[in-house]
Amino acid sequence: MRISYINLKQEHKILKKQILQAVSKVLDTANFVLGDEVKIFEHNIAKYCETKYALGLNSGTDALFLALKALDIGPGDEVITVPNSFVASASCIVTAGATPVFVDVCDDMNIDTNLIEGKITNKTKAILPVNLTGKICEMDRILSIAKKYKLSVIEDSAQAIGAIYKGKKAGSFGHINCFSLHPLKTLNACGDGGFLTTNDESLYIKLSKLRNIGMKTRNEVQYWGYNSRLDSIQAAILNLKLKHLDKWIASRRKIAAYYRNNLIDFVKVPTEMPYEKPAYHTFVIQIEKRDELQAYLLKNGIETKIHYPISIHLQEAAKPLGNKRGDFPVAEKQADTILSLPVFQELTKKQQDYVISKVKEFVKNNY
Ligand SMILES: *Cc1c(COP(=O)(O)O)cnc(C)c1O
Repeated sequence: MRISYINLKQEHKILKKQILQAVSKVLDTANFVLGDEVKIFEHNIAKYCETKYALGLNSGTDALFLALKALDIGPGDEVITVPNSFVASASCIVTAGATPVFVDVCDDMNIDTNLIEGKITNKTKAILPVNLTGKICEMDRILSIAKKYKLSVIEDSAQAIGAIYKGKKAGSFGHINCFSLHPLKTLNACGDGGFLTTNDESLYIKLSKLRNIGMKTRNEVQYWGYNSRLDSIQAAILNLKLKHLDKWIASRRKIAAYYRNNLIDFVKVPTEMPYEKPAYHTFVIQIEKRDELQAYLLKNGIETKIHYPISIHLQEAAKPLGNKRGDFPVAEKQADTILSLPVFQELTKKQQDYVISKVKEFVKNNY
């Protein structure tokens, strides 16, 4: 049996006819930039995330960057985030001119809220928690720390669309919340895309100008801005896919539960609290002989991934920040022991059983 890590081709085979119709409709209107489909997507996705406002953007990276810009975060400012995310969670801080200050993570790969206050200085302007793997951080604690020190919260929910924490949706916690619609995310465009959500009207108005070169009207410019718009064609495709999102997430949760029940005695599996419903963008196990397991699975036709093998603070680009190996021991250890199993929504029971049997087989033969 051969199992790829994701199966985007299958997703698009099922939806191809409808997607081509949606694209064809946009071609007929020739309204390609900030057209009706973008407005409809923004309405739909704000409703989905249970927020007042949403803005369609060209990527999750620009969503994060614009969020910092809208909050006037720049040179001399510090932003607290984690070292184990996709690099965009930290690069946005640097490209905005500010300094990322890393905080180590917990067993569940999300920010260790007990370590946040120790990193707050008079330069700290915001906390940028990442809902990694599709699991929402301890937001109660983060929001109360932010309130105490008058900090903004920017949620990186690029992996967490549809996740729930204490009855609230991902994207509804921070002042500005950022999502990616990259092809590898659970809700994905046929190319790059992203969006942000907020409940703050003035931030929403400012951000809607910042993403459109700072323009207030066709001829008047209020800010030095950026071109970070979502295309109408992508929005049309996303409006269609959004109808399937809850079904996809339900399927991922079911696969995750099945993996967990069957693998819990063999490897470290993600845990779930009674007050949360993670979205399982990834299903990440932890095992000491990670590289050997990955090779063993590949030999047996199962493709897996590592999200992410090099902590951000150890990247070449991060050298000027002055962090070193040993600074974030939990994140560094996880970089060597984590492995993402296939958890895409179309994965059949037979395929899940095969993955489970091969992981078990490896553990039995190696421990
Ligand atoms: C994918 C991702 C991003 C960046 O999104 P793009 O749309 O690829 O720019 C940011 N943060 C996290 C955690 C991500 O997984």
